[in-house]
Amino acid sequence: MKLRKQMVAGNWKMNGSVELVNQIANAISAVELDKVDVVVFPPYPLLNNALQNELVVGAQSVSEHEAGAYTGEIDAQLLAELGCKYTLVGHSERRSIYGESDEVVASKFQRAQCQGLIPVLCVGESEQEREQNLTESVVSRQIDAVINKLGVVSLVKSVIAYEPVWAIGTGKTATPEQAQQVHKFIRDKIASLDDAVSQSLILLYGGSVNEKNSELLFAQPDIDGGLVGGASLNPDSFVNICKSAQ
Ligand code: PEP
Repeated sequence: MKLRKQMVAGNWKMNGSVELVNQIANAISAVELDKVDVVVFPPYPLLNNALQNELVVGAQSVSEHEAGAYTGEIDAQLLAELGCKYTLVGHSERRSIYGESDEVVASKFQRAQCQGLIPVLCVGESEQEREQNLTESVVSRQIDAVINKLGVVSLVKSVIAYEPVWAIGTGKTATPEQAQQVHKFIRDKIASLDDAVSQSLILLYGGSVNEKNSELLFAQPDIDGGLVGGASLNPDSFVNICKSAQ
């Protein structure tokens, strides 16, 4: 039995429908929610439907700015007012497709926390970076952008998701050993600054998690659950993944 409460989050990306919200809400009633926190990250227009269905929800991204003239952006204060609890920051698709730098991600993290949202900071190396043995330095740099700006204590009300870019949406999952190695590296790195923060921090693994591989991944000592993309769109698969974290 693990000391930290496990968490499974579903990132729907630019997918989903009102119908899927209803299906997921029904399916999740089979999960023991006192044992695992289940969060869904649907597209913005579905947030209200998800909340009305009593799901715990997060946004897929958030503006680093306060409300104002930023067409197309979403303010953390509004997300909090709606009832969102979490927001992803620094998902690899935001970093690579929309050019979000470590500094912008750290600003989003700050703005989210200022409004009482829990940021889920996504970090991870590309395939090329892994081949060049740069995994630890990339992950360190991405986490340091937040620590250097806001201090290690800012990690208390946050979650970190280690998502190797080469495993996202590719069907190539990190082995439990590979994932555990990086999770341990992250936990040790944070422990060197503040042991209590490190011990309480929820660290999720993401990258082609499915109902066949989730149990072994989640059994690793420093993996506290998962951030699930594709498989979170299938209610049965998602529920089975949630149950494997119980
Ligand atoms: C993700 O989008 O964060 C993700 C991990 O996707 P997938 O599970 O599809 O690899």
